[in-house]
Amino acid sequence: MTPDRPNRLLLWDIDGTLISTGRAGEFALEDAIRTTLHSDPDLSGIEIAGRTDRAIAMQILKKYGREPSIESVAGFLDGYLAALAQRLPQRRPHGTVYAGIIEILEEARRRPDIAQGLLTGNIRRGAHLKLEHYNVFHYFEFGAFADDHHDRNRLPPFARARAEAIYQISFPPETIFVIGDTPHDVACGKAVGAHTIGVATGRFSVDDLVRAGAHVAFPDLADTAAFFRFVDSPCGRPPAP
Ligand SMILES: [Mg+2]
Repeated sequence: MTPDRPNRLLLWDIDGTLISTGRAGEFALEDAIRTTLHSDPDLSGIEIAGRTDRAIAMQILKKYGREPSIESVAGFLDGYLAALAQRLPQRRPHGTVYAGIIEILEEARRRPDIAQGLLTGNIRRGAHLKLEHYNVFHYFEFGAFADDHHDRNRLPPFARARAEAIYQISFPPETIFVIGDTPHDVACGKAVGAHTIGVATGRFSVDDLVRAGAHVAFPDLADTAAFFRFVDSPCGRPPAP
């Protein structure tokens, strides 16, 4: 069922928030260093969590002494995608869809007042591979991806514009909820004046996420009622700065 008049927009991060791929992404980056840069992989000093795939590729190319041009970034990411398709099934025993996620996605899909999309540092094809593998891609009609911009904080307007194009209504900042597992997700939500929901299923604790400014943070989303209490309560009033 397609909701016709949503007045809330949920924007989901992928890694560490919806799913864990059992580090398939990191293994695929290492594979891409081997296949496209012909070098021994070493990801030390590369910031990954909460960064976009394009920003990660640029860091890696610089570390390995390559100019991060449009072509070299695209070439590296092609290698990454090919490797990711192999690594996802290999790493499946170590991966998971986090507690409460399916229940929340199902309920959000049922509710006509909620629209939901992706807001992720993954490139679009990587997001599709990961979420298809974990059978959650079909919950999302639209999203913003690293293809749109290499700086995560610049992504929310793309997701919002796509939601507005689909539903033919506007989603002011106070109707938007950004859900993620890192301080970068929180910063990205706050950059557009959205409500921010931190979830400590990735590498950061509830305290870390609250310190980063999350309006609310949960250890995981198993308490789906608490999640919807937050989503339902503050609508119509702007989030605290
Ligand atoms: Mg994440």
